[in-house]
Amino acid sequence: MKNEIKFMVADITTLEVDAIVNAANKTLLGGGGVDGAIHAAAGPKLLEECKKLGGCETGQAKITGGYDLPAKYIIHTVGPVYTGSSRDAAELYSCYYGSLDLAAENDVHSIAFPGISTGVYGYPKPEAATIAVKAVVNWLDAHKDYGMQVNIVCFSNDDYKIYEQVVRGKR
Ligand code: ADP
Repeated sequence: MKNEIKFMVADITTLEVDAIVNAANKTLLGGGGVDGAIHAAAGPKLLEECKKLGGCETGQAKITGGYDLPAKYIIHTVGPVYTGSSRDAAELYSCYYGSLDLAAENDVHSIAFPGISTGVYGYPKPEAATIAVKAVVNWLDAHKDYGMQVNIVCFSNDDYKIYEQVVRGKR
């Protein structure tokens, strides 16, 4: 299998991949946005497993089963609440890079990411998309023979256009 990065518009909870990434909060006990959608689709056993994890720090990631989802695993990562400080970018980068490390440790070869921190956490979408692409490309470059299929999932056509501009070097 080759390393690959793909962009798509989709509901991440429907994807048949080894792992989907959740933009969680520090409690890991569920919330709104993509987090709420993932918990609703995975079913109540997900919350039971999450309760045992003891939360998660910003920029870090933890893994659980996917339960009723088509995905085998869920990687829960906590994005930064946007403040405008330089730390935000480092933490967001670490969410993507660390989630890929954790995925590889669990023999995951296909993974889907939402736009971490770009909802309630307020990260400006063009900046967040630039960091996401940079982290994924750097990880793939550092693991050339691994065979990871990365899906960047947009929830709207407008979000997709932002990634298109990033990839074309216009952002
Ligand atoms: P955060 O708290 O990290 O900002 P949100 O869940 O509020 O997380 O938003 C993160 C991104 O996930 C937003 O861009 C939002 O449009 C997107 N999103 C929400 N629901 C879904 C879904 N079901 N599939 C894919 N993306 C989603």
